[in-house]
Amino acid sequence: MTTRASLLELSRPQLEAVVADWGEPAYRSAQIWKGVYHRHATRAEDFTSLPQALRRRLDESFVFRGLEVRAEARSRDGHTTKVLLGWPSEDRAVEAVRMEYARRTTLCISTQAGCAMACSFCATGQMGFGRNLSAGEIVEQVLHFAPQGPVTNIVFMGMGEPFHNYEATMEAIDRLNDPQGMGFGARRMTISTVGLVPQIERFTQERRQVNLAVSLHAATDELRDQLLPVNRKYPLAALLEACRGYVAFTGRRISFEWALIHGVNDGLDQAGALAAWIGDLTCHVNLIPLNPTGGYMGAASPRERAAAFRASLQARGIPCTLRVRRGLDIEAGCGQLATRAAGSPRRPLHRAG
Ligand code: SAH
Repeated sequence: MTTRASLLELSRPQLEAVVADWGEPAYRSAQIWKGVYHRHATRAEDFTSLPQALRRRLDESFVFRGLEVRAEARSRDGHTTKVLLGWPSEDRAVEAVRMEYARRTTLCISTQAGCAMACSFCATGQMGFGRNLSAGEIVEQVLHFAPQGPVTNIVFMGMGEPFHNYEATMEAIDRLNDPQGMGFGARRMTISTVGLVPQIERFTQERRQVNLAVSLHAATDELRDQLLPVNRKYPLAALLEACRGYVAFTGRRISFEWALIHGVNDGLDQAGALAAWIGDLTCHVNLIPLNPTGGYMGAASPRERAAAFRASLQARGIPCTLRVRRGLDIEAGCGQLATRAAGSPRRPLHRAG
């Protein structure tokens, strides 16, 4: 038996070519595209407007999902859902998270299985690099959650470094954005990067309306070298220049992420260094108490230290928000998405039914 390709691996022009090759009129490929990305069809039988023969042909040639659902878990409060999606022929898997808030629903999706950036406090960084996801596999995470209700925001903050899988990530963004498919607004998507300077520059030039967040976590090279080894290659001065270029060229605000680690980067000295580094850059700082991970000894900053850090930034006129942690009971918090190579989560998830 030959394995069928995933329909999600096709770009729109590629699907058009396949359908033309089958001797079908062009509007058929538009119907299929809409069915897959707009109505979230998962079976050929869902396409009631297509002739039987074409449905059969679709079924014989393609599968509608390339990844399999290994497990799904919901937090005790019911607002956070995490799914583990794996490759049929491998142990590797990635995680994606859906978070419901009062007025928005955010998906946090992965771009790589594992990660090569080796940030010390991040569970995915502790795993090392596994593999890249294709554009279709990135989009598939969004399609997985589609039946659970409307989504208002998508953040590329799951496993992996999006700018280390640049092409596939951008193709996924363009496909999510495609008005003939999902039509998901670019301004409601956010890419988060560890700070790969050449890719920030390229992203700046490409002028997508997607938001950009940079994981800073330290404002001195000495400390950032330790927490984010990538800083040795792209130190703070080079990173600042790229961020300034982004803001100047796009006219958009940039976000900085800062995981507050008790006694490591939550002192007023780092707050001062951060404010000096930012200067007059148009930005927003997101502070989030560290989520515990197996391979890192650090702890979250206590509430008072986090509040003092925030107050110190605010006193210097830097917009910032202290985030609440979500999904900790299912290890769905930032930097906790670490399905090991074996695909077995640390605590058992409920099997998907
Ligand atoms: N590679 C991308 C996406 C990583 S995950 C990046 O580096 O930005 C999204 C955010 O979670 C990043 O800011 C990352 O630094 C942060 N993060 C990683 N581990 C964390 C942890 N244990 N606690 C809190 N935030 C964490």
